[in-house]
This record gives sequence, C-alpha cells and structure tokens, in this order.
Amino acid sequence: MAEKKTILVVDDEPDIVNLTQKFLELENYDTITCNNGKEALKIVEEKYPGIVLILLDVMMPGLSGWEVLQNLKGNDLFKDILVVLFTVKSFNEDIQKGKALGADGYITKPFSGKDLLKYVKKLLKEKGIL
Ligand SMILES: [Mg+2]
Repeated sequence: MAEKKTILVVDDEPDIVNLTQKFLELENYDTITCNNGKEALKIVEEKYPGIVLILLDVMMPGLSGWEVLQNLKGNDLFKDILVVLFTVKSFNEDIQKGKALGADGYITKPFSGKDLLKYVKKLLKEKGIL
C-alpha cells in the first residue's frame, strides 16, 4: 500500500481549516493544520521531510501567506515542497505575484471539496508524488 501523503493546511479561519481537513482525510491524506504563518514554518521544519504539499491562505494576521511562501521557496531545504495558495482574490495580479514568488498553484475561495481534491490530486500526479 502506498504511503500516506502529508498535507499542511494553513488558514486563520477555523471553518476553512476544518472543512479542508475533512475533505483531505476522505481521500486518505494525512493532514496537519495550523492557523498562522509562524507556526506553519515551525511545523515544516519539525516535520521535514514529511510534508509534500501546503495549502496556504494568503490573508492572515502576522506572517502573511506571501511571507511564508517567500521564506519556503528561498530555503534550499524547503523549496521543493508544493505550495498552493488559498486566495479570496482571483485578481490576475495576485496570481502573477504568486507565480513570481514560486507558488505551485492557487485555489480561489470559496471552493468545493470536490474541486479541491481534484486539484490536489492533479498537482501531486504532475509532480510525480502520487
Ligand atoms: Mg485568511
């Protein structure tokens, strides 16, 4: 049996975190959750090399998703972890900014569980992780 893949979910809205976690666990992913950027970076470090993908909210108090993304992609150890941004803004400039900072994808809120799972699976397959 294939090893379970671990996904980190980071969002300051508990409802989003809980819902996302439930969907991911239905598809047999292992999940770790937190609600701020600082903790996200700490978890990535502690669990290294366990986390394959991070679903990362952009708008959070404290460290923003942009800052977390920059931090991860600027670190040789963590730059290959896939980062998918959760953004309420579907503005082109945000998508461009995400790409420039090295994001591997983005999901616009609100999203359906079905679309989320489809997106995650597709990305993991493309990157040879699944
Ligand atoms: Mg937020």
